[in-house]
Formats: sequence, structure tokens, C-alpha cells
Amino acid sequence: MLSEYDVIIIGGGGSGLAAAVRALENGARVLVLEKQPQLGGTTGMAIGSFTANGTSLQRAAGVIDSADAHEEDAGKFAAPEIESHSNNELRRFFLGQTAETLEWLRGMGLYFHGPNPEPPNRVPRMHNIVPNAKAYIAAFQTQILKRNGTIVCDAPVVELVSDGQQVTGVVALIQGERKTITAKRGVVLAAGDYANAPEIIGRFKGDQFKSIEGVNPKACGDGHLLAENVGAQLLNMEITYGPELRFVPPPGDPFEQLLPTSGFLAQVMGRLVPLLPQALINWRIKRLLLTWQHPENSLFDNGAILVNVEGRRFCNEKDSPQREIAISEQPGKAAYILLDERIAAYYSAWPHFISTAPKIAYAYVNDYLKLRPDVSVAGKTLEAVAQHRNLDTTNLHESVAQFNEYVAGQQPDPFGRVDDTHRLKGNRWVLLGPAKAYFTTTEGGVAINQSLQALDENGTPIAGLYAIGCNGMGGQVLWGHGLHIAWAITSGRLVGETLGQASLNAEL
Ligand SMILES: Cc1cc2nc3c(=O)[nH]c(=O)nc-3n(C[C@H](O)[C@H](O)[C@H](O)COP(=O)(O)OP(=O)(O)OC[C@H]3O[C@@H](n4cnc5c(N)ncnc54)[C@H](O)[C@@H]3O)c2cc1C
Repeated sequence: MLSEYDVIIIGGGGSGLAAAVRALENGARVLVLEKQPQLGGTTGMAIGSFTANGTSLQRAAGVIDSADAHEEDAGKFAAPEIESHSNNELRRFFLGQTAETLEWLRGMGLYFHGPNPEPPNRVPRMHNIVPNAKAYIAAFQTQILKRNGTIVCDAPVVELVSDGQQVTGVVALIQGERKTITAKRGVVLAAGDYANAPEIIGRFKGDQFKSIEGVNPKACGDGHLLAENVGAQLLNMEITYGPELRFVPPPGDPFEQLLPTSGFLAQVMGRLVPLLPQALINWRIKRLLLTWQHPENSLFDNGAILVNVEGRRFCNEKDSPQREIAISEQPGKAAYILLDERIAAYYSAWPHFISTAPKIAYAYVNDYLKLRPDVSVAGKTLEAVAQHRNLDTTNLHESVAQFNEYVAGQQPDPFGRVDDTHRLKGNRWVLLGPAKAYFTTTEGGVAINQSLQALDENGTPIAGLYAIGCNGMGGQVLWGHGLHIAWAITSGRLVGETLGQASLNAEL
């Protein structure tokens, strides 16, 4: 490793690696510093959907689309009180670049299935990478190594270096030592989100949310703090995707994570996917669905209850996000969803699914019992399901009896539930869980302009500092599936292009 590069990128996830590839393509000397022992970040855990407009895959499917139409639809996903905070100018700019990014990725040998529909998008826009988001990481890594970029893992950046006029480099901890490295053209913040950063969550969203974990336990918001320390403006820090109730991930790597993400086999898979019958594709997506999706809130509207590992109820299950806050305060931060015979039968066929990727795949009780036995069990008695998960049977019986008394009008619900009309009973019980409350990702980030430059509190660019991906959300609200990865990679591509060309120009 040298002590000076043209471009230093903080973070080896989707945005940072995309930036590195594009800067290298444009002739820059690039260093990627990654905090963890391996590359990937949240991008490497994701399903990998990439939502875009005006793509060649859309055209091949006869879909006519535009960035203006996409921007209009993108504003329909979040509730109005959240959407009203969005930087729509930046989002429209980004959406105008998504097709080019997708073609760039395809040019690297990556394969996509789609476009798939996701209302309220008016046309199919979701492109799903084959087999999963690790393919982005593998492809970028290959390109970076091919073009002699430098990647150093286990190298957290702990400080930005400034000469008072501009950011000139970073201090990273490498093999336990502080090392200062200079960037001639720019430092790029690509350190991801703060879904698992209690201090940041508490400060911006409220202390009651501090005990809720992020799906990615390594998403600690370092980049946001580094930016803040040099006077960058942070926007929308209170907006988070979640907290949501989600089943804990399966033990080990799920099948999909084991599929080849690069090389000949991935290419074969990519070519085969469009030829597969839709049912088979839905089965594949269903597996992913059961890994990450959250159980529908309607389960509780239809009578299900939540209990903790002691078999006790602890909240009004219909009241989110108080429900998620309460779950994070239970032993092991875990909760279980109890369905009786009636509810289990109800959630066994369309249109009553336990979880969904809308219009693509739907998972019912039997899908969970078949594909996720680690978080679902069925039995003839309460004892049977309780024993399977080591729940206290006596308490579980009491919880059900107390709930039934409330339903029968004998006493109010101690947790404030109203409008339930069915007692819990029958000869089949299904217990789903453990489930936890998680932040999936966060929407707050460094204020940026369309050149991806970080801005200070006055909106003035901080010379030498750029922010991309979740680190540089710039106030955009990117609700729905597929826009976060599209933004991460697009913002990376764009900043790489700018800084790479700057390096070239400097040499002329
Ligand atoms: C389960 C799950 C599924 C998802 N599925 C999708 C999907 O299908 N489509 C979609 O659009 N979005 C999805 N998302 C969201 C999406 O994956 C992320 O928003 C996006 O990938 C973030 O990319 P990024 O480059 O900003 O951050 P990351 O990919 O998280 O990269 C940040 C990197 O920076 C590193 N880093 C952090 N601090 C430092 C430091 N101090 N020094 C050096 N390195 C540091 C991290 O270790 C990490 O490797 C999903 C999220 C989750 C949790």
C-alpha cells in the first residue's frame, strides 16, 4: 500500500466498490479501505433487486418507461409525512441515470431477471440480479483487481484529514496502527448506513429506539460521524426503514447464498433464468422471501398474539412501532407469533399470506413449515408448540386464557387491544418465531449535490469530500424495493467517473 492515491474510498460495499471500478476505468489510482475482514457490507446481504427505468430489459419486454414517470411513482411508496422530506430533485437526477448503470453492470457479465412488477410502479421496473447481491461484490472485486486497484480489509477509517481548506486524506487503523494516507483528488465516504448504531439512532430518532438492532449488525454509521466531524450537513437522520418485525435469519448460509456469483456457472444460471417457468422463479424468490421478509401486520388484525420466551404477552400487537420497541425489551429481544386453528387456516391460501414480495411471491403457513422449520412449528396442542421452542407452557396457557377473557368481554385487554372477536382455540396451533424488531436500513445521510460532493451546513461543497450510497443519501427517500442498491451503485459509478476523469485531466 502507498501513502498517496488519487482517490480513497471508505467502505467496500456496493457503492464504494462501484466507485472504485469506475475511477479505475477512468485511469485513477484507487485505494479502498474496508473496516471488516471481507468486502460486501449490507449490499452483500441483500436480495439484490435493482429498480430502474428505460432499460434494455424493459424494452425487450415491450415496456415503455421514463425517468419522469419513475420519479412520480417513486413518490408513492412512503407515507406522505415521510415523502414530504424527500429531496426530489436529487432523486429525479438519480433515476435518470439508472439505465446506464444497469447496462454498465451487464457489461461486467452480471445477469438480471426481470423487469418484475412492484406497484405502485406503473410498469415493471424491478431487475433481480442472479443469483443474489453477492454477485455485485464478486464482479466489482474482479474488476478492481484486474485494473490494479488496492483493497485493504480490516482497515477502519477513524478520521478525515483536512488542511483547513479541503479534505486531503484519511487516517486508518491498519494492523493496530494509525496510518495517514493522502488522496490527491478526493475522499469518498461509502461507509453504509446506521441501522445498528444506538448512539446515532437515539440522538436523531429517540432513546426508545436505541435497543432495536439493525439487520446488518455491522452497519454502525461511521461514515455519517466522520462527515459530521468535518462539518458536513446530515439530512433526514430520523427516517429509518423499519423498525419492522422480522424472523431471525436461518442458521448458516441459506441455499441462495451458496449459488455461484461469478464465473462460468453464474453465466450459465443467468442465461437459464429467463427460460425457466415462472413457477420455478417464484419458488426461488419465495426462498429469499422467507429469509428476509417481515410477517404481515394483518396477522394481528386477524387475531394472532405475540408472546415472549416466557410465554407471556407484553404489548398491544397492533400498535407499531410501540410493538417493536416492546419486543426489543424482551428477554433475548425475541418474540413468537401464535396462530390458532382458525388463523392458521386463514393464512394458508390467497389472499392471506404471512409475507410477500408484492406481485412476485407469497408465503403461507405451509411454506414456512416446509422451508423455515427453524422459525415455525405446528402442533395439536399449545404444549406441543411451546415445548418445541422452550416457551413456558403454563404462562402460554394463561396468556391465551387472558386474551380469550378479553375477547369474551369479561375484562379489558391489559395491553389495550380492541375489536378482537375470535377466541384462540382449536386442535391445531402454529408458533412462528423467534422474530425480532429490526431496522432494515436507514434513510438519513450526508447532504450532497449532483456531483456527489458533501455539503456543509450552508450548502457549500466541502472540497475533497464526496458521499455516496447510504452514506450520501442527500435527503432522498427511496422507499420500495430496489432503489437503495440502484442508488448505491449509480452514485458510486458517477463519483468514480468524476474523480477518475479529474485524475486524467490532472495528468494532461
Ligand atoms: C436484508 C436486506 C436486504 C436488502 N435487499 C435490498 C434489495 O434487494 N434491493 C435494494 O435496493 N436494497 C436492498 N437493501 C438495502 C441495500 O442493500 C443497501 O441500502 C445498500 O446495499 C447499501 O450500500 P452501501 O454501499 O451504501 O453500503 P454497504 O454495502 O453497507 O457498504 C458499506 C461498507 O463500508 C464499510 N465501513 C463502514 N465503516 C467503515 C469505516 N470506518 N472504514 C472503512 N469501511 C467502513 C462497511 O463495513 C461496509 O462494507 C437490503 C437491505 C437488507 C438489510
